[in-house]
This record gives sequence, structure tokens and C-alpha cells, in this order.
Amino acid sequence: MSDCIFCRIARGEIPAKKVYEDEDILAFNDINPARPVHVLVIPKRHITSLATVTEADTPVLGKILTKANEIAVAQGSPDGFRVIANTGRIGQQEVQHLHIHIVGGPDPVGPMLKRI
Ligand code: 5GP
Ligand code: ZN
Repeated sequence: MSDCIFCRIARGEIPAKKVYEDEDILAFNDINPARPVHVLVIPKRHITSLATVTEADTPVLGKILTKANEIAVAQGSPDGFRVIANTGRIGQQEVQHLHIHIVGGPDPVGPMLKRI
């Protein structure tokens, strides 16, 4: 998946405003933010989506969620945030490299979804 856009960001081939990085995961600002805080967190190793994960991915998935609060607080969402993981066609995932959105800011982010 060498031409995957998030793999390229992870390799430093495409610039991004990084807000957290370690050996396994990378967090960077969304290019088109929906809220004052809008960070994407990805595994550096290519995983397509939550629909393709295996047991081997459990540690990196745990790390992504475990770091979410620290990232949110540091970016200006001190009192909670929302995590979104769009998955596959139904989830309307646009970038086919697993990522979570952390959205937040000083004010509540709004309703979750329009009710049926
Ligand atoms: P998805 O619908 O796949 O969950 O969301 C993909 C997100 O990636 C979108 O919010 C979009 O704005 C963001 N995005 C797409 N391309 C780039 C890019 O090149 N750089 C950054 N920082 N974000 C991107
Ligand atoms: Zn990738």
C-alpha cells in the first residue's frame, strides 16, 4: 500500500501537522477540520479498516484509544471529545487506512447522528 495517502504521511512523504507520534502510531490534524479540534490517529503500519483487523492488531488499536484523551487535552479539548471510526462503504470511509477521528474543542460537538 505504498501509495496510500496515510502511509505516505506516516513516512513523511506528504506533510501533515503532527500532534503525537511514537513507534506505532501517528496523530495529525485533519486537513479539513469539522471542529476546533479534529485530529486523526493512525497505525503507522497499513491496516485498511476496522473491517479487516485481526487479533494481531489488538495492541495497536488499544494504543490508539489509550492515547486519545491525552491528545485531545493537549489540542484544546480538555473536557471530553468524540471518537469516530468510519468503516467501509456503509460507514462512508474515504481514506482506506484505518484511522480514528478525535473531534472536540471548547464546546460540545453536537448531536451524534440524525435519528431515523
Ligand atoms: P474518513 O471519511 O475516511 O473517515 O475521513 C478521512 C479524513 O481524512 C477526512 O476528514 C479528510 O479531511 C482527511 N484527509 C484526507 N486527506 C488528507 C490529507 O492529505 N491530510 C490530512 N491531514 N487529512 C486528510
Ligand atoms: Zn496506508
